[in-house]
Amino acid sequence: MENRMKELVDLLNQYAKEYYTQDQPSVSDAQYDKLYRELIDLENKYPEFILDNSPSHRVGGLILSGFEKYQHQYQLYSLQDAFSKEELETFDRRVKADFPDISYVAELKIDGLSISLSYEDGKLITGATRGDGNIGENITENLKRVKDIPLTLNQMQTITVRGEAYLPKASFAAINKERHDNGETEFANPRNAAAGTLRQLDTSIVSKRNLATFLYQEASPSQADSQEAVLENLQSLGFSVNQERLVTSSMAEIWDFIQSIQNKRETLPYDIDGIVIKVNDLHVQDEIGFTVKAPKWAIAYKFPAEEKEAQLLSVDWTVGRTGVVTPTANLTPVQLAGTTVSRATLHNVDYIKEKDIRIGDWVTVYKAGDIIPAVLAVNLDKRKDQPPMAIPTACPSCGSELVHLKEEVALRCINPLCPSLIQRSLEHFASRNAMNIAGLGPSVVEKVFKADLVKDVADIYHLTVDDLLTLPNVKEKSANKLYEAIQDSKANSADKLLFGLGIRHVGAKASRLMLEEFGSLKALATASQEAIATIDGLGSVIADSVASYFAKEEVGVLLDELEQAGVNLDYLGQKVAKDAQLSGLTVVLTGKLEQLTRNEAKAKLESLGAKVTGSVSKKTDLVVAGSDAGSKLEKAQSLGIHVETEDWLQSL
Ligand code: NAD
Repeated sequence: MENRMKELVDLLNQYAKEYYTQDQPSVSDAQYDKLYRELIDLENKYPEFILDNSPSHRVGGLILSGFEKYQHQYQLYSLQDAFSKEELETFDRRVKADFPDISYVAELKIDGLSISLSYEDGKLITGATRGDGNIGENITENLKRVKDIPLTLNQMQTITVRGEAYLPKASFAAINKERHDNGETEFANPRNAAAGTLRQLDTSIVSKRNLATFLYQEASPSQADSQEAVLENLQSLGFSVNQERLVTSSMAEIWDFIQSIQNKRETLPYDIDGIVIKVNDLHVQDEIGFTVKAPKWAIAYKFPAEEKEAQLLSVDWTVGRTGVVTPTANLTPVQLAGTTVSRATLHNVDYIKEKDIRIGDWVTVYKAGDIIPAVLAVNLDKRKDQPPMAIPTACPSCGSELVHLKEEVALRCINPLCPSLIQRSLEHFASRNAMNIAGLGPSVVEKVFKADLVKDVADIYHLTVDDLLTLPNVKEKSANKLYEAIQDSKANSADKLLFGLGIRHVGAKASRLMLEEFGSLKALATASQEAIATIDGLGSVIADSVASYFAKEEVGVLLDELEQAGVNLDYLGQKVAKDAQLSGLTVVLTGKLEQLTRNEAKAKLESLGAKVTGSVSKKTDLVVAGSDAGSKLEKAQSLGIHVETEDWLQSL
C-alpha cells in the first residue's frame, strides 16, 4: 500500500507539473482525477502513510521563473470534487446537519485559469495567478491586455477579486489552426492555451489572443451578505460575471440544473468542466470554514469525461497550404459529446512516435476543449502484434521526399509545385480574410486546378466566364457571379493580397501592419529585413520570412503578373471620415500606457482618422508617449515633433 501511495504521489506530482507549470498535460483530466481519487481513498484508509508532498495537501501550481513572485494577501483555494449525484447529496446532508435552512448558488465551473486582481481606489494595481495558493506569479502586464478586465472600476473601491481567465472556443480553434499551419505544437485544450498565453513574457501575444474572464469572488472582506450579492456587486463594478446560475436550497433542483447545463455545454462559446455549488450565505461560509486545500462550504461537480475507446482503422495523411503533412485517424465510430466521431487528429509524426500509436490499436479518443476530436492514448492491453506505424517518406500528393525540419514537430512537403499545396494556397487566397472571392471554395478550386486553368494566384485573374463554363456542373449564373467576385477583389486593399499570398508566419494583422508602414506591396517587397523588423508588433521571425519570400525571383514575376492583371498593390487603409479630428496625421505610440492597452490606443487613434505607425521619422506628425518612453521619444524631440500624453488621448 505504502508503495502504491508513493507511486501515485510521484505520478500525480509529475502530471501536475506538466499541467500547471508547463501548460502541456500528458494525460487527460479524467485520467488525473481517477488516480487522484485512488490516492484519496488510500489516504483515508491508511492515514499513517500520507506523504508530506501529497497533492491532497497542496493547491496546484508552481512559479515560473521569469515572473515576479506575488504573495497573495488572501489565500486561494482549490475545490472539493464530486463525480456523482450521491456525492452531492452527501455534501448537502453534511452542510444541512448544522445549517438546515441554507440555500446554495450553483455556478458554471469555467475551465480556465484562476486569477486574482487587486484594485486600490478603483485602479487595477496587480493581477496574479493562483500558484500554490499563497504565492502566485505577478502577471499584471499581461492581464491588463485582457479586454474585459477593467483598469478602473465604476467605484473607487479597494478590493481583491477572483475569477477565471479563459479562451473562447473559437479563438482556441483559430490559434491551433495557425500553430498547426506553422508546424508548431498545438495546445491540448483552451485551458492550457489560456494559461500558456498569460504565463509568457510577450504582452503583445496576450493582446492578440482574445482572452476573456468571468469573476466570481470577492477575496477581500465583502460588504455583501451572500454569494448572489457578491456576483451582482462584481457586475456593477464593471467585471464580466457569468449569468448562468441557480439559487436554490434543493439539491434535486441543482441536479436538474446540472443536467440542463450539461446538455447545452457543447453550444456554450467557452469550456466548462462542471458546476460549482456554494453555500449562498457568506456568514455561514465563514462558520463552515476550510480544509488546508479547499472550502468546506463548496463542492465542484465534474462532468463525466468525454472520452471513449475506438479502434484505429487507418490514417490519412494530407498536405496543408504551408506543406505541413497532417495525420488524421479513421476510427470505428463512437458517440462523443453528442456527436458521432469517426475521424480524429493524430497531431503530427512526433506525437505518433512518442505514443507509439499503431494501426489496429484501441485508442482513447477525446474532444480537445470539446471541439476537435483527438487521439489521446493507446490501450496496450488490447494490442495484438501490430507493427509500428509506417511513417510516409514521400508526399501523399506529389510523391516528392518529405522533410522533418529539426525545430519542428511536423513533416513537410517542400515542393512548391505540389498539387495539394497549390490548391490549399488558392483556397487560402480566396478566403474571407484574404481576397474574399465568394464562390471560389475548395470544390471550384479543385476544378479550375484540374482543368489546368489556374496554377498560381495570378491565373485566377485570367479566368473568363467561358473558361468557368467549361467546368463540370458550373452554370451561367454561378460562372458570372464568380467572375464578378474575382473582378471585385482586384480593388481590395493590398493587405488582403499580402495575407492571401500565404507567407509563413504572416497573418492578417501582420499584413496590415506592414502595409500601413510601407504603403504598397512593391515598397514592402524591396524593404530590408531590418526595416520590416522595426515595425511595432512584428518580430524578427516575421521579418525574416517576408524578406526571404520577396527575395525570390518567381515572387517578383508573380507581383508583376498581378499588377498587369489590374490587381491593386496599394494599401487603402481604413475608411475614416475626412473631417475626423486626427485625419491625415501620422502618429506613433511609445512608452507604457496606463489606462489603455496598445491596441485600444491604436484603435482610438485610427477611429479619429490617424495613421498609426511603428517608427518615428520626418513623416511623423505626432507622438503619444506613455511613461518610460525611450528612444522614440528622444528621436521625436530631436526632430521637433509634437508630443502628447495618454491623458490627452483619453480626453479626445
Ligand atoms: P479545479 O480546477 O478542479 O477547481 C478549482 C478551480 O476552479 C478554482 O481554483 C477556480 O479557478 C476554478 N473555478 C472555475 N469556475 C469557478 C467558479 N464559478 N467558482 C469557483 N471556482 C471556479 O481544481 P484545481 O486544484 O485547480 O485543479 C485540479 C484539477 O486540474 C484536476 O481535477 C484535474 O482535472 C486537473 N489537472 C489535470 C492534470 C493533467 O495532467 N491533466 C494535472 C493536474 C490537474
